[in-house]
Amino acid sequence: MSALFPDYRPAWETDDHRLLREHARAFFAKEMTPNQEKWAAQKHVDRETWLRTGEAGLICLDVPEEYGGQGGDPGMEYLVTEELVYSGDTAFGMGVGSTITPHYVANYATEEQKRAWLPKMCSGEWISAIAMTEPGAGSDLKGVRTTARRDGDHYVINGSKTFISNGGSADFVVVAAKTDLDAGHKGMALFAVEADTPGFERGRVLEKMGRHGADTAELFFNDMRVPAANLLGGEEGQGFYQLMNQLPRERLAIAVDALAMAEAAVVETIAYTKERQAFGQPVLDFQNTRFELAHCKTQVMATRTFVDYCIQREIAGELDAVTASMAKMQATDMLDDVVDRCLQLFGGYGYMMEYPITQKFAAARVMRIYGGTNEIMKEVIGRAL
Ligand SMILES: Cc1cc2nc3c(=O)[nH]c(=O)nc-3n(C[C@H](O)[C@H](O)[C@H](O)COP(=O)(O)OP(=O)(O)OC[C@H]3O[C@@H](n4cnc5c(N)ncnc54)[C@H](O)[C@@H]3O)c2cc1C
Repeated sequence: MSALFPDYRPAWETDDHRLLREHARAFFAKEMTPNQEKWAAQKHVDRETWLRTGEAGLICLDVPEEYGGQGGDPGMEYLVTEELVYSGDTAFGMGVGSTITPHYVANYATEEQKRAWLPKMCSGEWISAIAMTEPGAGSDLKGVRTTARRDGDHYVINGSKTFISNGGSADFVVVAAKTDLDAGHKGMALFAVEADTPGFERGRVLEKMGRHGADTAELFFNDMRVPAANLLGGEEGQGFYQLMNQLPRERLAIAVDALAMAEAAVVETIAYTKERQAFGQPVLDFQNTRFELAHCKTQVMATRTFVDYCIQREIAGELDAVTASMAKMQATDMLDDVVDRCLQLFGGYGYMMEYPITQKFAAARVMRIYGGTNEIMKEVIGRAL
């Protein structure tokens, strides 16, 4: 339930979802809201926060209980994402560490590996990441140049990755590498890598436009020997298909994040313009302000219903790549429009980093870029016309 639409209840939301929402809201208000400045200054989230979030049962909501998860449905994961955003957080890497990476393990690892790795991710003991992007290959993942050469019962991995969310602190990384550089996307494989493997090195935590508390980093692999059993799915050549299968889930998570941020921006802006006076009246009383916010609120609700439809399909196991791409593109384009209009209504204060609207403006911009750019979303949608 968002503060912008208190009476709206998505069709997929049950009483259990609502109870979880209340729990998550209270937890994040205590653990996330007060720490944003500290995390931005140190450029990472405290490890204890991961542990406390795990203890609170808010990581890996839809991983089965036998592997340490909460055994819920994807709706639980997405509503926790919403609540995280409503708390004003722009640092905690839950999208990657809970919604995305553990599911590569859940879907493609062996039973023994699932039992060894998933409980650590679900408890917050392990922070996880997914490393696809390289300095020379982002949108076009076929261009990945990190290599994995079979040597006895190991693979030797060499190469580098950039822009990796949670990269500065990750204990476990799913790495996309090529077992055959000449085979295009058919040469791609995914490897589970523990960060204490010799040859695994971290570069710097990158200076970003926003989300300063998130430790987005470079990674380097120098003759890193990974057990052959860590090849996810156990068969070479499957990596590209595994990525394509998981991307709809990631793209819907970004859509949910964007939608929640747009809602929060409108709520903040209504409150601010009610208080702020100009020409002897609240800024909200200018027709322009009301028109701008009417536009924003309508855009948010239109997107809300589409995203809720996608969540419903994901819960049913029926979300396809094209629809997820539409949701990601629609929600992130909408967010940029809405947050820009909202920021304008804060005047000069909207340009000050201490204001949450300013942090949202900066945090929003990357959502049209990561998880596949919105141009790539158009390609995915356009190819299926
Ligand atoms: C903060 C942040 C966090 C990230 N986290 C991760 C992470 O955890 N793991 C990870 O693997 N990656 C991560 N990324 C990387 C992100 O997914 C890539 O930056 C993104 O996919 C784009 O790749 P690129 O930067 O190489 O841009 P490029 O691929 O070089 O694209 C440049 C421009 O060309 C356009 N373009 C490319 N191909 C086409 C086409 N076919 N048609 C039309 N236009 C096209 C793009 O849309 C873009 O506008 C992150 C990035 C950022 C900024």
